[in-house]
Amino acid sequence: MDQTIFYPRGGGQPHDTGKIIKGDEVYNIVYVGKFSGDISHEVDHAGLQAGDEVSCVLNWERRYKLMRSHTVAHVLAALLNKGTGALITGNQLEEDHVRFDFSLEKYDRAVLEAYVAKANELFGTDVPVKWYELPREEAMKIPGVVKMAGAFPPDLPSLRIVEIVGVDRQADGGAHVRNLREVGKIELVKTENKGKNNRRIYFKLN
Ligand SMILES: [Zn+2]
Repeated sequence: MDQTIFYPRGGGQPHDTGKIIKGDEVYNIVYVGKFSGDISHEVDHAGLQAGDEVSCVLNWERRYKLMRSHTVAHVLAALLNKGTGALITGNQLEEDHVRFDFSLEKYDRAVLEAYVAKANELFGTDVPVKWYELPREEAMKIPGVVKMAGAFPPDLPSLRIVEIVGVDRQADGGAHVRNLREVGKIELVKTENKGKNNRRIYFKLN
């Protein structure tokens, strides 16, 4: 399990679900977390031992939605950041919707609708998404490499960069689709105004 396929909760992306199978016995995964650098899998009943030979089955339907949503969140953050200087103040990906908070001086639903429309235009085009490691020093020179307000990338000699070609480069540990065409279209569900540092939008995948 040190090469696990299951994503542990982190960076606004929820943990994966799925099954660990030993012989005829199925253990459902209820939580996957990272503790002091190690990934821990919690299952619904006892019986697994160190050294057991097991098969792992990922709930791919859920994971793929989360990957699409995660890439959407990066695109929206990049467009808003480029257009308005907004920083992300919080986000939570869920299977059926995404909550996204950011700082913005002037708040206007029509403006946000326009950004969603701009993002949807991109999701109709062939834009590759790549990820790779860069030495920390080099990574920190990328403008906007961290768009989370008050956040710093982990203190590691190299950082994982997620690049949406021509749109965004961001230090990130999350799971993403390989091309913006995979996203489909998104829909603005609602907007909430919780103060200038906390404009909140909810969107979902169509
Ligand atoms: Zn991310």
